[in-house]
Amino acid sequence: MTRVYNFSAGPAALPEAVLKQAQEEMLQWNGAGMSVMEMSHRGKDFMSIAAKAEADLREIMAIPDNYKVLFLQGGASSQFSMIPVNLLAGKNKADYVLTGQWSKKAVAEARRFCEVNVVSDTSDSRFTTVEDQSKWSTSSDAAYLHYTPNETIVGVEFPFIPETDVPLVADMSSTILSREIDVSKYGVIYAGAQKNIGPAGLTIVIVREDLIGKAMDNMPVMMDYKTHADNDSMYNTPPTYSWYIAGLVFQWIKDKGGIKAMAEINERKAAKLYQAIDDSAFYSNPVDVNCRSWMNVPFILANAELDASFLEEAAKVNLMTLKGHRSVGGMRASIYNAMPEEGVDALIQFMADFEKRNG
Ligand code: PMP
Repeated sequence: MTRVYNFSAGPAALPEAVLKQAQEEMLQWNGAGMSVMEMSHRGKDFMSIAAKAEADLREIMAIPDNYKVLFLQGGASSQFSMIPVNLLAGKNKADYVLTGQWSKKAVAEARRFCEVNVVSDTSDSRFTTVEDQSKWSTSSDAAYLHYTPNETIVGVEFPFIPETDVPLVADMSSTILSREIDVSKYGVIYAGAQKNIGPAGLTIVIVREDLIGKAMDNMPVMMDYKTHADNDSMYNTPPTYSWYIAGLVFQWIKDKGGIKAMAEINERKAAKLYQAIDDSAFYSNPVDVNCRSWMNVPFILANAELDASFLEEAAKVNLMTLKGHRSVGGMRASIYNAMPEEGVDALIQFMADFEKRNG
């Protein structure tokens, strides 16, 4: 059976080389006589897998030594509450940039713990833009500034890193590893794994050490970064298999030339897809050109009645999971690192053919 080009927003496509290696190692890993899934997380085999994954992630992202890397569960959604619980540190206010559905959820969760000051709200433009930072209304007493560099649903991506004196917190779920970033500009970076890192079930948190150990009183131990930092993410049983696959993905990125090389491919893939959309009168993308996502490319057809046949015919040529998010409609092509350039080429070709027949 052929593998399709899977444009899912997440869980998303994984590199085929990674899946093949996992297949080869499925029954027994490296002479251990058992699958990674069956290993104790405290045994030397899994400890070596875990340590290598962390070391490789540190290398590809150039994570400074004064940051901890945590391998947690609970998804990015758990971080929506773990952020205020750990970072308020006695303050009662936090600044949030509202640029889409995911930052909206982060705001709602933070409101359970503190006053939230929304510094910029682009809901009036249906989240199709990012407001210049000079127009933001930041507060003087915020504990931190939270933003979502890439909003997965509408496909809006920050063209800049916000400047701030307070710890900068980023939900990088759908952009981590897609381009180089300067980790030292951040207090906390977090991401659910199921887009650009590996399988669902793993959440990566990269946190500056001085921000650890200040959690609110009487919070569950599992919500305190210190619990996980002090125990190398093994206070309880971590998501071992997802951690292992993430490690294979980090190795794959290294083999490909690192994040710089990935970014060049990503930029090219996105540019040609947006070009195809802009060149046609049949497809359109509503996001401001300077903040269009490299990872999630939504587009709508001139006639929404053709949506069903677009999806049906795309599936026949192995282009899958292109349906847009229910709140936006139309289509969305998520083109994370694991989507080969040929997949984007095939989509562009199909879009042109479909337009010729229906436009
Ligand atoms: N933030 C962003 C930007 C996302 O795209 C998603 C998931 N699509 C989430 C948060 C929620 O992640 P999780 O399902 O891992 O809780």
